[in-house]
Amino acid sequence: MKKTTITWLLLGSIVTTFTLSCHRSEQYFSSRPSEQVSGDPLLISNLEVLCNYRGTHQGYVDQSWEDSAILKSELATPEDTEFMKNELKKNAALWGMEVPILGFVEDLSDPSSTYNAISYSSGKIYYGYYMYDKAKSKSPDNIVNAMILAHEYGHQLQYEYYLPSVFEVTNRAAELEADGFAGYYLRKPQGFNKREFSDIAAAYHFAAKIGDYDIEDEDHHGTPPSKENGCSLRFFIR
Ligand SMILES: [Zn+2]
Repeated sequence: MKKTTITWLLLGSIVTTFTLSCHRSEQYFSSRPSEQVSGDPLLISNLEVLCNYRGTHQGYVDQSWEDSAILKSELATPEDTEFMKNELKKNAALWGMEVPILGFVEDLSDPSSTYNAISYSSGKIYYGYYMYDKAKSKSPDNIVNAMILAHEYGHQLQYEYYLPSVFEVTNRAAELEADGFAGYYLRKPQGFNKREFSDIAAAYHFAAKIGDYDIEDEDHHGTPPSKENGCSLRFFIR
């Protein structure tokens, strides 16, 4: 009997917490969540995922993703989720900064719409399922996902330190600098710890594919050759 009472008290407490937290989380990306019901401070909480609504669409991400996309706290397998968590922790340790909150985005009706990863100034990184799967298929050591995540972490460094120091009307400078942070990370022993330039070929080839020639467009990320160089040249800085 005593056990039952305690159980109901706990259940009541959880329901109360859920209600209060849902109310608080109506402002998306306004701040880092103060509590993580999933129990893992690195991952976006299951509670925050459940509370993200747009109309009747539960799990709505934000305007940067398709309406049909859903915010998730994990990738398809625990091994993949763990890989990304560990990579994120190593980035933060290398630069001596706080670990951002990591979330994942899946879109069952339009999978390729999640071929993206976004770093938010609020201290979150959202990573697309489709991007993860495509990048993982490029090499057995999953270096491409490590590179992309390090690139997104590079944007967190830019938010923190007001980088890049040069201003351009397009995103080119910021994107190439983030590629540089990624290349630096791939070589560092505390990072992805690759010693030979040939070991990161899958990473800089993938970076080049993200490049474009829309040099007048505000969202220009750098040409394919410059993105390849952005990633690979910083690899040689010790
Ligand atoms: Zn970027």
